[in-house]
Amino acid sequence: MQAVVFREPYAVAVEDVPKPSVKPYDVLIRVESAGVCGTDIHLMEGGYEPKYPLIPGHEFAGVVVEVGPGVTSCKPGDHVTVDPNLYCDRCYYCRRDMQNHCEAWEAIGVTLPGAFAEYVAVPEASVHHIGSLTFTEGAFVEPLSCVVYGQRRARVRMGDSVLIHGAGPIGLLHLQMAKHSGCANVTITDLRPERLDLAKQLGADYVLHAGEADVDGALREIEPRGFDVVIDATGVPAAV
Ligand SMILES: [Zn+2]
Ligand SMILES: [Zn+2]
Repeated sequence: MQAVVFREPYAVAVEDVPKPSVKPYDVLIRVESAGVCGTDIHLMEGGYEPKYPLIPGHEFAGVVVEVGPGVTSCKPGDHVTVDPNLYCDRCYYCRRDMQNHCEAWEAIGVTLPGAFAEYVAVPEASVHHIGSLTFTEGAFVEPLSCVVYGQRRARVRMGDSVLIHGAGPIGLLHLQMAKHSGCANVTITDLRPERLDLAKQLGADYVLHAGEADVDGALREIEPRGFDVVIDATGVPAAV
């Protein structure tokens, strides 16, 4: 099969590689759609201590084409997406329900072969059915899950005023989630006018160009006493 392979920083190539083999509790998926995440860019640049050669891609959806003999919850033909994070469920942190600190953490497309390929093999326990969603929508399930969890922690409540820095894919998902949570208004900032236009279309009450001379003044005009919830979706230290 063909796959995108990172062999060293800034070296991206499409190569012929062996099709993944299917272990007893594995599911082989034909990838139909995959998103490019900021993490993929970092891995390409050599960040996150990548184990090269690496096939990236951890936000994806596709069709099940083969299952191992132990698999019971999906079958060839099913439309699915995948939680790329694999926890050991044995270490100190996993036993304390703190899997994000897992001492043996692996992730499809980060430490294991990912979905920028024709096929990817994943453990059955990581597979989720997407029903009638399109494959493009299915590829958004992973980033949207991160946003859902983030807003649970941020506790956006009915009537809140929300400020989101950054109108990229994650910021725009936060915007739509906040609107569904019954907040009073959402303000969103970005440097790219076309992203702010899209934010408007997706329901932003106020959009603000982050390069404007007096951003703080403009924000104070919208919410003189400050915002109830502020979300940074830029990843830029200066924004924090
Ligand atoms: Zn990601
Ligand atoms: Zn663990």
